[in-house]
Amino acid sequence: MSSGVNKVYTLNDGNVIPSLGLGTWNSEKGILKEAVLEALKIGYVHIDCAYIYNNQREVGEAIKEAIDQHIVERKNLFVTSKLWNDHHRKEDVEKYCKVTLKDLGLDYLDLYLIHWPVSSKPNSHFPTQPDEFIDVPIEETWKAMESLVEKGLVKSVGVSNFSIHRIEEILNFCKIKPVVNQVECHPYLTQKPLQQFCLSKDILLTAYSPLGSPGRPSAFNKEDSPKPLMEDEKLISIAQAKHVSVAQVLIAWQLQNGNVVIPKSVTPERIKENFDAFKVILSNEEMDAIDALNKNARYVKGHIFYPSDTTGPIKTYDQLWN
Ligand code: NAP
Repeated sequence: MSSGVNKVYTLNDGNVIPSLGLGTWNSEKGILKEAVLEALKIGYVHIDCAYIYNNQREVGEAIKEAIDQHIVERKNLFVTSKLWNDHHRKEDVEKYCKVTLKDLGLDYLDLYLIHWPVSSKPNSHFPTQPDEFIDVPIEETWKAMESLVEKGLVKSVGVSNFSIHRIEEILNFCKIKPVVNQVECHPYLTQKPLQQFCLSKDILLTAYSPLGSPGRPSAFNKEDSPKPLMEDEKLISIAQAKHVSVAQVLIAWQLQNGNVVIPKSVTPERIKENFDAFKVILSNEEMDAIDALNKNARYVKGHIFYPSDTTGPIKTYDQLWN
Protein backbone atom coordinates (compact mmCIF):
# COMPACT_ATOMS: atom_id res chain seq x y z
CA MET A 1 0.00 0.00 0.00
CA SER A 2 1.37 3.37 -0.97
CA SER A 3 0.11 5.68 1.78
CA GLY A 4 1.72 3.92 4.72
CA VAL A 5 -1.53 3.84 6.74
CA ASN A 6 -2.63 0.59 8.32
CA LYS A 7 -5.05 -1.62 6.42
CA VAL A 8 -5.64 -3.54 9.64
CA TYR A 9 -5.16 -2.92 13.36
CA THR A 10 -4.61 -5.51 16.08
CA LEU A 11 -7.24 -5.23 18.81
CA ASN A 12 -6.43 -5.53 22.52
CA ASP A 13 -7.70 -9.15 22.50
CA GLY A 14 -5.35 -10.13 19.66
CA ASN A 15 -8.00 -10.18 16.92
CA VAL A 16 -7.48 -8.08 13.81
CA ILE A 17 -9.85 -5.40 12.46
CA PRO A 18 -9.72 -3.92 8.94
CA SER A 19 -9.30 -0.14 9.23
CA LEU A 20 -11.91 0.73 6.59
CA GLY A 21 -15.41 -0.75 6.59
CA LEU A 22 -18.74 -0.20 4.86
CA GLY A 23 -21.51 1.45 6.93
CA THR A 24 -25.06 0.18 6.40
CA TRP A 25 -27.31 2.52 8.43
CA ASN A 26 -30.07 4.11 6.40
CA SER A 27 -29.34 1.83 3.45
CA GLU A 28 -32.57 1.20 1.65
CA LYS A 29 -33.81 -2.34 1.36
CA GLY A 30 -33.60 -3.58 -2.21
CA ILE A 31 -30.37 -1.62 -2.81
CA LEU A 32 -28.24 -2.70 0.11
CA LYS A 33 -27.59 -6.27 -1.04
CA GLU A 34 -26.06 -5.10 -4.33
CA ALA A 35 -24.08 -2.41 -2.49
CA VAL A 36 -22.53 -4.90 -0.06
CA LEU A 37 -21.79 -7.33 -2.87
CA GLU A 38 -20.14 -4.53 -4.85
CA ALA A 39 -18.08 -3.53 -1.82
CA LEU A 40 -16.89 -7.09 -1.28
CA LYS A 41 -15.88 -7.31 -4.96
CA ILE A 42 -13.90 -4.07 -4.64
CA GLY A 43 -12.01 -5.39 -1.64
CA TYR A 44 -13.90 -4.26 1.48
CA VAL A 45 -13.88 -7.07 4.05
CA HIS A 46 -15.40 -5.13 6.98
CA ILE A 47 -19.16 -4.47 7.17
CA ASP A 48 -20.74 -2.44 9.98
CA CYS A 49 -24.28 -3.57 10.82
CA ALA A 50 -26.82 -3.26 13.63
CA TYR A 51 -30.07 -4.91 14.70
CA ILE A 52 -31.81 -1.52 14.68
CA TYR A 53 -30.89 -0.83 11.02
CA ASN A 54 -33.52 -3.46 10.18
CA ASN A 55 -31.63 -4.60 7.09
CA GLN A 56 -29.28 -7.32 8.34
CA ARG A 57 -30.98 -10.04 6.29
CA GLU A 58 -30.01 -8.25 3.11
CA VAL A 59 -26.43 -7.90 4.31
CA GLY A 60 -26.53 -11.64 5.05
CA GLU A 61 -27.77 -12.41 1.53
CA ALA A 62 -24.88 -10.42 0.05
CA ILE A 63 -22.35 -12.17 2.28
CA LYS A 64 -23.72 -15.59 1.35
CA GLU A 65 -23.60 -14.77 -2.36
CA ALA A 66 -20.04 -13.44 -2.07
CA ILE A 67 -18.89 -16.57 -0.25
CA ASP A 68 -20.72 -18.86 -2.72
CA GLN A 69 -19.08 -17.01 -5.63
CA HIS A 70 -15.64 -17.29 -3.96
CA ILE A 71 -15.32 -13.49 -3.80
CA VAL A 72 -14.37 -13.72 -0.13
CA GLU A 73 -13.98 -16.39 2.53
CA ARG A 74 -15.80 -16.07 5.84
CA LYS A 75 -12.54 -16.19 7.77
CA ASN A 76 -11.33 -13.08 5.94
CA LEU A 77 -14.51 -11.10 6.59
CA PHE A 78 -15.03 -8.81 9.59
CA VAL A 79 -18.69 -8.34 10.49
CA THR A 80 -19.75 -5.99 13.29
CA SER A 81 -23.23 -5.75 14.76
CA LYS A 82 -24.78 -3.97 17.73
CA LEU A 83 -27.06 -4.77 20.64
CA TRP A 84 -30.08 -2.44 20.73
CA ASN A 85 -31.21 -0.54 23.81
CA ASP A 86 -34.22 -2.68 24.73
CA HIS A 87 -32.05 -5.83 24.84
CA HIS A 88 -29.64 -4.87 27.64
CA ARG A 89 -31.00 -7.28 30.28
CA LYS A 90 -28.85 -10.38 30.70
CA GLU A 91 -31.57 -12.73 29.42
CA ASP A 92 -31.90 -10.69 26.21
CA VAL A 93 -28.23 -10.21 25.28
CA GLU A 94 -27.65 -13.75 23.96
CA LYS A 95 -31.20 -14.06 22.62
CA TYR A 96 -30.85 -10.99 20.37
CA CYS A 97 -27.28 -11.77 19.41
CA LYS A 98 -28.66 -15.03 18.02
CA VAL A 99 -31.41 -13.13 16.17
CA THR A 100 -28.69 -11.00 14.55
CA LEU A 101 -26.60 -14.06 13.68
CA LYS A 102 -29.63 -15.70 12.07
CA ASP A 103 -30.47 -12.56 10.08
CA LEU A 104 -26.88 -12.26 8.86
CA GLY A 105 -26.66 -16.02 8.17
CA LEU A 106 -23.50 -16.27 10.29
CA ASP A 107 -22.47 -18.53 13.14
CA TYR A 108 -20.29 -15.90 14.79
CA LEU A 109 -19.78 -12.13 14.71
CA ASP A 110 -16.32 -10.62 14.59
CA LEU A 111 -17.38 -7.73 16.80
CA TYR A 112 -20.49 -7.02 18.87
CA LEU A 113 -21.06 -3.58 20.39
CA ILE A 114 -23.43 -2.15 22.97
CA HIS A 115 -25.02 0.39 20.60
CA TRP A 116 -25.89 3.12 23.16
CA PRO A 117 -25.42 3.57 26.92
CA VAL A 118 -29.19 3.85 27.25
CA SER A 119 -31.59 1.06 28.26
CA SER A 120 -35.26 0.83 27.43
CA LYS A 121 -38.08 -1.57 28.19
CA PRO A 122 -38.43 -4.68 26.01
CA ASN A 123 -40.11 -3.79 22.70
CA SER A 124 -39.55 -0.10 23.31
CA HIS A 125 -37.09 0.57 20.49
CA PHE A 126 -37.48 4.37 20.59
CA PRO A 127 -39.02 5.41 23.91
CA THR A 128 -41.27 8.43 23.91
CA GLN A 129 -42.51 8.14 27.49
CA PRO A 130 -40.36 8.49 30.62
CA ASP A 131 -41.39 5.09 31.99
CA GLU A 132 -40.10 3.34 28.87
CA PHE A 133 -36.51 3.98 30.00
CA ILE A 134 -35.17 1.42 32.47
CA ASP A 135 -32.01 1.21 34.51
CA VAL A 136 -30.03 -1.91 33.56
CA PRO A 137 -26.64 -1.84 35.30
CA ILE A 138 -23.79 -1.80 32.78
CA GLU A 139 -22.20 -4.66 34.72
CA GLU A 140 -25.19 -6.90 33.91
CA THR A 141 -25.06 -6.13 30.18
CA TRP A 142 -21.27 -6.26 29.88
CA LYS A 143 -20.98 -9.62 31.68
CA ALA A 144 -23.57 -11.02 29.28
CA MET A 145 -21.49 -9.62 26.38
CA GLU A 146 -18.41 -11.36 27.79
CA SER A 147 -20.26 -14.65 27.94
CA LEU A 148 -20.95 -14.35 24.18
CA VAL A 149 -17.18 -14.42 23.64
CA GLU A 150 -16.82 -17.39 25.98
CA LYS A 151 -19.54 -19.24 24.03
CA GLY A 152 -17.91 -18.48 20.66
CA LEU A 153 -20.86 -16.45 19.37
CA VAL A 154 -18.71 -13.35 18.97
CA LYS A 155 -14.95 -12.91 18.65
CA SER A 156 -14.64 -9.43 20.20
CA VAL A 157 -16.83 -7.07 22.20
CA GLY A 158 -16.96 -3.31 22.41
CA VAL A 159 -19.12 -0.26 22.94
CA SER A 160 -20.56 2.61 20.95
CA ASN A 161 -21.45 6.15 21.97
CA PHE A 162 -19.68 5.67 25.32
CA SER A 163 -18.00 8.59 27.11
CA ILE A 164 -14.67 8.31 28.98
CA HIS A 165 -16.55 8.03 32.26
CA ARG A 166 -18.75 5.17 31.01
CA ILE A 167 -15.75 3.23 29.64
CA GLU A 168 -13.97 3.66 32.98
CA GLU A 169 -16.98 2.07 34.68
CA ILE A 170 -16.58 -1.05 32.51
CA LEU A 171 -12.80 -1.16 33.01
CA ASN A 172 -13.38 -1.30 36.78
CA PHE A 173 -14.94 -4.75 36.69
CA CYS A 174 -14.53 -6.35 33.25
CA LYS A 175 -12.81 -9.65 32.54
CA ILE A 176 -12.70 -8.79 28.82
CA LYS A 177 -11.93 -5.18 27.90
CA PRO A 178 -13.92 -3.41 25.17
CA VAL A 179 -11.79 -3.49 22.02
CA VAL A 180 -13.46 -0.53 20.31
CA ASN A 181 -15.55 2.54 21.06
CA GLN A 182 -17.56 3.45 17.96
CA VAL A 183 -18.47 7.14 18.03
CA GLU A 184 -19.26 10.02 15.71
CA CYS A 185 -15.98 11.49 14.49
CA HIS A 186 -15.03 13.91 11.70
CA PRO A 187 -13.31 17.30 11.42
CA TYR A 188 -16.18 19.12 13.18
CA LEU A 189 -15.99 16.58 16.06
CA THR A 190 -12.38 15.43 16.19
CA GLN A 191 -12.83 13.57 19.50
CA LYS A 192 -9.17 14.07 20.51
CA PRO A 193 -9.66 13.67 24.30
CA LEU A 194 -11.75 10.53 23.84
CA GLN A 195 -9.28 9.14 21.29
CA GLN A 196 -6.34 9.81 23.63
CA PHE A 197 -8.15 8.14 26.52
CA CYS A 198 -9.10 5.12 24.40
CA LEU A 199 -5.56 4.73 23.08
CA SER A 200 -4.20 4.90 26.65
CA LYS A 201 -6.41 1.88 27.42
CA ASP A 202 -5.58 0.09 24.14
CA ILE A 203 -9.12 0.66 22.86
CA LEU A 204 -9.55 1.69 19.22
CA LEU A 205 -11.82 4.50 18.13
CA THR A 206 -14.11 3.70 15.21
CA ALA A 207 -15.37 6.81 13.44
CA TYR A 208 -19.02 6.80 12.42
CA SER A 209 -20.63 9.46 10.21
CA PRO A 210 -17.13 10.29 8.89
CA LEU A 211 -18.61 12.23 5.95
CA GLY A 212 -20.98 14.18 8.20
CA SER A 213 -23.88 11.80 7.58
CA PRO A 214 -25.46 13.84 4.76
CA GLY A 215 -28.17 11.20 4.27
CA ARG A 216 -29.31 11.13 7.91
CA PRO A 217 -33.07 11.32 8.57
CA SER A 218 -34.33 14.91 8.81
CA ALA A 219 -35.47 14.26 12.39
CA PHE A 220 -31.78 14.36 13.36
CA ASN A 221 -31.47 17.99 12.31
CA LYS A 222 -31.54 20.56 15.10
CA GLU A 223 -31.07 24.32 14.98
CA ASP A 224 -27.48 23.93 16.14
CA SER A 225 -26.58 21.07 13.77
CA PRO A 226 -23.33 21.81 11.96
CA LYS A 227 -23.51 22.80 8.29
CA PRO A 228 -22.85 20.05 5.72
CA LEU A 229 -19.29 18.84 6.28
CA MET A 230 -18.53 18.05 2.65
CA GLU A 231 -19.32 21.69 1.74
CA ASP A 232 -16.56 23.02 4.01
CA GLU A 233 -14.35 25.41 2.01
CA LYS A 234 -11.11 24.31 3.63
CA LEU A 235 -11.82 20.65 2.92
CA ILE A 236 -12.79 21.48 -0.66
CA SER A 237 -9.57 23.43 -1.20
CA ILE A 238 -7.43 20.58 0.19
CA ALA A 239 -9.28 18.06 -2.00
CA GLN A 240 -8.94 20.23 -5.11
CA ALA A 241 -5.23 20.77 -4.55
CA LYS A 242 -4.72 17.00 -4.34
CA HIS A 243 -7.10 16.14 -7.21
CA VAL A 244 -9.12 13.87 -4.93
CA SER A 245 -12.65 14.09 -3.52
CA VAL A 246 -13.64 15.65 -0.18
CA ALA A 247 -14.90 12.22 0.92
CA GLN A 248 -11.45 10.77 0.24
CA VAL A 249 -9.80 13.54 2.27
CA LEU A 250 -12.17 12.83 5.17
CA ILE A 251 -11.47 9.09 5.09
CA ALA A 252 -7.70 9.56 4.68
CA TRP A 253 -7.70 11.94 7.68
CA GLN A 254 -9.28 9.19 9.84
CA LEU A 255 -6.86 6.53 8.65
CA GLN A 256 -3.83 8.77 9.27
CA ASN A 257 -5.22 9.50 12.75
CA GLY A 258 -5.18 5.76 13.47
CA ASN A 259 -8.95 5.39 13.61
CA VAL A 260 -11.16 2.71 12.08
CA VAL A 261 -13.56 4.40 9.63
CA ILE A 262 -16.89 3.14 8.27
CA PRO A 263 -18.31 5.42 5.55
CA LYS A 264 -21.70 4.37 4.24
CA SER A 265 -22.64 4.35 0.59
CA VAL A 266 -24.99 2.37 -1.59
CA THR A 267 -23.62 4.00 -4.77
CA PRO A 268 -21.07 1.79 -6.59
CA GLU A 269 -18.83 4.68 -7.74
CA ARG A 270 -18.73 6.15 -4.23
CA ILE A 271 -18.08 2.76 -2.62
CA LYS A 272 -15.01 2.48 -4.88
CA GLU A 273 -14.01 6.12 -4.40
CA ASN A 274 -14.15 5.73 -0.62
CA PHE A 275 -12.01 2.59 -0.71
CA ASP A 276 -9.46 4.40 -2.87
CA ALA A 277 -8.92 6.85 0.00
CA PHE A 278 -6.20 4.40 1.08
CA LYS A 279 -4.12 5.95 -1.72
CA VAL A 280 -4.51 9.55 -0.45
CA ILE A 281 -1.64 10.93 1.64
CA LEU A 282 -2.22 14.11 3.65
CA SER A 283 0.76 16.21 4.70
CA ASN A 284 1.27 17.19 8.35
CA GLU A 285 0.12 20.71 7.44
CA GLU A 286 -3.06 19.36 5.86
CA MET A 287 -3.72 17.12 8.87
CA ASP A 288 -3.26 20.11 11.21
CA ALA A 289 -5.51 22.34 9.09
CA ILE A 290 -8.25 19.70 9.20
CA ASP A 291 -7.83 19.21 12.97
CA ALA A 292 -8.31 22.97 13.37
CA LEU A 293 -11.86 22.72 11.95
CA ASN A 294 -13.04 21.09 15.20
CA LYS A 295 -16.21 22.62 16.69
CA ASN A 296 -17.18 19.73 19.00
CA ALA A 297 -20.38 19.63 16.97
CA ARG A 298 -22.47 16.51 16.42
CA TYR A 299 -24.84 15.51 13.63
CA VAL A 300 -26.05 12.56 15.75
CA LYS A 301 -26.90 14.14 19.09
CA GLY A 302 -28.87 11.24 20.56
CA HIS A 303 -31.50 13.76 21.64
CA ILE A 304 -34.25 11.15 21.53
CA PHE A 305 -32.56 9.58 24.56
CA TYR A 306 -32.96 12.66 26.76
CA PRO A 307 -36.38 14.11 26.02
CA SER A 308 -36.82 17.18 28.21
CA ASP A 309 -39.79 15.76 30.09
CA THR A 310 -38.16 12.43 30.93
CA THR A 311 -37.68 11.09 34.39
CA GLY A 312 -35.42 8.44 32.85
CA PRO A 313 -31.79 7.99 33.84
CA ILE A 314 -30.44 10.44 31.22
CA LYS A 315 -31.86 13.96 31.23
CA THR A 316 -29.43 16.16 29.37
CA TYR A 317 -26.94 16.23 26.49
CA ASP A 318 -24.09 16.41 29.03
CA GLN A 319 -25.30 13.38 30.95
CA LEU A 320 -25.26 11.33 27.76
CA TRP A 321 -21.98 12.48 26.29
CA ASN A 322 -19.77 13.62 29.17
P1 NAP B 1 -21.56 8.91 6.48
O1 NAP B 1 -20.85 7.65 6.18
O2 NAP B 1 -20.84 10.06 7.06
O3 NAP B 1 -22.30 9.44 5.18
C1 NAP B 1 -23.11 8.61 4.38
C2 NAP B 1 -23.77 9.48 3.33
O4 NAP B 1 -22.76 10.03 2.48
C3 NAP B 1 -24.73 8.74 2.44
O5 NAP B 1 -25.82 9.62 2.20
C4 NAP B 1 -23.94 8.50 1.17
O6 NAP B 1 -24.80 8.50 0.05
C5 NAP B 1 -23.01 9.70 1.14
N1 NAP B 1 -21.71 9.38 0.53
C6 NAP B 1 -20.97 8.27 0.74
N2 NAP B 1 -19.82 8.32 0.04
C7 NAP B 1 -19.83 9.51 -0.61
C8 NAP B 1 -18.93 10.12 -1.51
N3 NAP B 1 -17.79 9.53 -1.85
N4 NAP B 1 -19.27 11.34 -2.02
C9 NAP B 1 -20.43 11.95 -1.68
N5 NAP B 1 -21.33 11.39 -0.83
C10 NAP B 1 -21.03 10.18 -0.30
O7 NAP B 1 -22.80 8.67 7.45
P2 NAP B 1 -23.43 7.56 8.37
O8 NAP B 1 -24.18 6.57 7.56
O9 NAP B 1 -24.14 8.31 9.43
O10 NAP B 1 -22.19 6.84 9.09
C11 NAP B 1 -21.51 5.73 8.53
C12 NAP B 1 -21.86 4.44 9.24
O11 NAP B 1 -21.53 4.52 10.62
C13 NAP B 1 -23.36 4.11 9.27
O12 NAP B 1 -23.85 3.68 8.03
C14 NAP B 1 -23.39 3.08 10.37
O13 NAP B 1 -22.93 1.82 9.89
C15 NAP B 1 -22.43 3.70 11.37
N6 NAP B 1 -23.13 4.55 12.38
C16 NAP B 1 -23.13 4.11 13.67
C17 NAP B 1 -23.79 4.86 14.64
C18 NAP B 1 -23.79 4.39 16.06
O14 NAP B 1 -24.61 4.88 16.88
N7 NAP B 1 -22.93 3.46 16.41
C19 NAP B 1 -24.44 6.06 14.31
C20 NAP B 1 -24.38 6.50 12.99
C21 NAP B 1 -23.71 5.74 12.04
P3 NAP B 1 -25.17 7.16 -0.81
O15 NAP B 1 -25.30 6.02 0.15
O16 NAP B 1 -26.46 7.57 -1.44
O17 NAP B 1 -24.05 6.98 -1.79
